[in-house]
Order: sequence, then structure tokens, then C-alpha cells
Amino acid sequence: MSFSLAVVVPAYNEAQVIGTFHARLAGVLDGIDAACRVIYVDDGSSDETWPMVVALAEEDPRVAALRLSRNFGKEAAMTAGLDTADADAVVVIDADLQDPPELIPELIAQWLDGYDVVYATRGERDGETRTKKFTSAAFYRVMEKLSDTPLPRDTGDFRLLSRRAVEAMRGLRERQRFMKGLFAWIGYPQTSVTYHRDARHAGNTKWNYWRLTNLAIEGITSFSTAPLRMATWLGVSAAGFAFLYGLWVMFKVLLWGDPVRGYPTLMVVILFLGGAQLLALGVIGEYIGRTYAEAKRRPLYYIESRRGGLSCGGDSGK
Ligand code: UDP
Ligand code: MG
Repeated sequence: MSFSLAVVVPAYNEAQVIGTFHARLAGVLDGIDAACRVIYVDDGSSDETWPMVVALAEEDPRVAALRLSRNFGKEAAMTAGLDTADADAVVVIDADLQDPPELIPELIAQWLDGYDVVYATRGERDGETRTKKFTSAAFYRVMEKLSDTPLPRDTGDFRLLSRRAVEAMRGLRERQRFMKGLFAWIGYPQTSVTYHRDARHAGNTKWNYWRLTNLAIEGITSFSTAPLRMATWLGVSAAGFAFLYGLWVMFKVLLWGDPVRGYPTLMVVILFLGGAQLLALGVIGEYIGRTYAEAKRRPLYYIESRRGGLSCGGDSGK
């Protein structure tokens, strides 16, 4: 068996764990009979992450390091890694040891069986609050209902991609990168391996509810136009209701005259219609904003420096 394997590790302020992570990963890679390479993508960290990965690149010939010019977010960091990885199989894994590197041989086994995308599905989750579990479960259910491409449930970004799957991913340059959706969208034979997700080894999660909510909106709007449809239906039913109510008011005037009353009904109708209009406008605005962001066609990331055995070789940048 002879193939090449690249492991892409996005890292943002992971100085506390990156050493431990690399030791565990290196142990796993030692046991794999393949030409291995690890690509650390430092997503503009403000702590010691970059010097640490540079040191790793000097110690271990398998390690290559990329530093992005600022914090572009995990999705861009992963994309930078995938763009650089030139291997038969590419694994994407978090640096915080929540995804066990020990699972990589199992992912490879499925890939050798002919699957192009092998994603790791979380079994139980440690170290996550009940609300976090509940909201994430609810999100997957809603996405499943709304989206045109079915999204595998309870998967993170930990997965293995074949060469052609990586090439397919490289072709997707949209800015609103909801990676889980994109991985599913490319198609090809896909399968999963279940594992137990540990609590973070050290450091803090970079996701708070604000970022998670934004990710959910991103996921829904980039994979479904259902909200636009919902806005339309809300508009149609509000208009229909208003029309019927108007008829009823007219009849009332004709039959019983018009005593000056009806302030409450007036307010209710105005407020309801105003709310419905603002909601529909907001939904449309979301999509227009996205179209605008895509239309600018900006690059997804910039690389500030590279270290270690990448194709360009040596150092570029500061
Ligand atoms: N990450 C990144 N850029 C960011 C945020 C996170 O590269 O802006 C990396 C982070 O270093 C880690 C992975 O993405 O390797 C997952 O991040 P985190 O553990 O914060 O997310 P969670 O596991 O809670 O989903
Ligand atoms: Mg994590």
C-alpha cells in the first residue's frame, strides 16, 4: 500500500494544545504506511501558536506551516489547507483534540474501500452543555427540512477527502462558506465513522452563541431559499386576511353605520402588517447581502508566511 496523506489542521490561538496535539498526531502517523504530511494553518492567531508551529516544522520534516494574514475564520483556514494539500487523501481535523487523531486509520480504511468522503460522526458529547446539545440538534433538524442537499447529522468538520473530492472543493470559491454543506453538496460516495467527542483538551472554544447563530443563518441561506418562500407565503396570507377583514369592515359600515370606534383593531392590523413587511424585507436583505458579498469576488484568504516542505519551498514573506 503506498499513498500520500495530508492532514490539514486549522489553528486559531491554540498554543495551549498544539504541542500535545502534534505529539498525538505524530504517534498516529508513525503507524500509517504512507507518505504523510501535516499542514498547520495558523488563522492569524494572536498568541504563541505561530512560533510553535514553526518550531514543529523545524523539528519534524512532515510538518508544513501556513500563516494567514489575519483571522479569516475556520472555514477560510480549512480552505487554505485544502488548496495547499497535494495528496491522495486529505484529513481535516481540529487542533483542540476534540477530534481524536486515533480515528484517522479508520477513516483511511473506509477511503481504501472506495469512499470519497469519510466523515466522522459524533456519538456522545462530553463537555458540552445541555443547551448546546439541544440547539445543535435542533439546527440539524431544521436544516434537514429546509435544505436542498441533505446534511449529515451530528458531524463536525473532521473528515477524510479523496483527491477528487478535494479538487471538487477547490472549485467552490463562494465566500459564504458553510463547509459542512459544501462537503455534502459535492456528492461522490460518502460514508461515516462514529466516534466519541471529547471535551476540549485546553483553551476555550471560539464559538459563542452569537457566532453559532450566524453560522446557522449562513447555513440556511446558502443552502436554501425556503425563507424567501416563507416570506412570500407570509405576505400572501397577511394580504388575504387583510382583504377579508376589509370586506367585513365594509359590510359592517353598510349594515350598521360607522360609530367612531375601532382604534384597537386599526393598531393591531397596522402593527401586524408592519411587522410582516419588515420581516420579509429582512429576509430579502439577507439574500441581497450575500449576493453582494459574492459579487465582489474577493479572495478567501491571504497567506502571510509559509514554513516547511511546501511546494513553494522555504520562506516567503516576513
Ligand atoms: N479555528 C480557526 N479559526 C477561527 C476559529 C477556530 O482556525 O476563527 C480552529 C480552532 O483552532 C480549532 C477549530 O477551528 O482547531 C475548531 O474551533 P473550536 O474548537 O473553537 O470550535 P468547536 O470545537 O467548539 O466547534
Ligand atoms: Mg473545539
